[in-house]
Amino acid sequence: EAILETLKNAVKSYPDFPIPGVIFRDLFSVLADPQLFPLLKKCLIEEVKAINPPVECVVSLDARGFLLGPIIALELGIPFIPIRKKGKLPGKVRSYDYTIEYGQSTVEIQENSVKPGQKVLVVDDLLATGGTLDAACKLIKQEGGDVVSCLVVMELNDLKGREKISANVISLLQF
Ligand code: IMP
Repeated sequence: EAILETLKNAVKSYPDFPIPGVIFRDLFSVLADPQLFPLLKKCLIEEVKAINPPVECVVSLDARGFLLGPIIALELGIPFIPIRKKGKLPGKVRSYDYTIEYGQSTVEIQENSVKPGQKVLVVDDLLATGGTLDAACKLIKQEGGDVVSCLVVMELNDLKGREKISANVISLLQF
């Protein structure tokens, strides 16, 4: 837990970004530190390995989720599946509209990417209002996947985002 404290202290905070009143928590300051990036990876893998039932697939979100999900999928030897903003994924996609902290958004997943009944882990950098993770969970469920858990590096406690998510939520660092 000293490690978690170290990681938390390394997350740079930017007041009034991208709009006044918001404190932006930036994971890139952790990834920029070659001592801390492996520690972050270690903490994430430990959390994922403790999940029961074991996850069979990692889904993450455009864009900062893409820095984390593939690392976990590689380590576990399981598939990595992307969810992206509207219009970025080729082929047949399923879409979901939702409201975010800073406006309106649509996310998409490729059809038949997550298999029916597959035990899915959803990974993102940060949980704020929960709109993004909730949208991801809904897309995965519509594809027949079973969202076992959501994993984020940072959780903004005051926004109570986890109450919006029907799946179990794990966060490494709380703000
Ligand atoms: P939510 O949908 O309100 O939970 O917002 C979470 C999404 O917005 C995640 O995909 C984050 O990457 C992004 N986000 C919101 N606030 C921050 C922040 O302070 N730092 C980094 N990303 C943020």
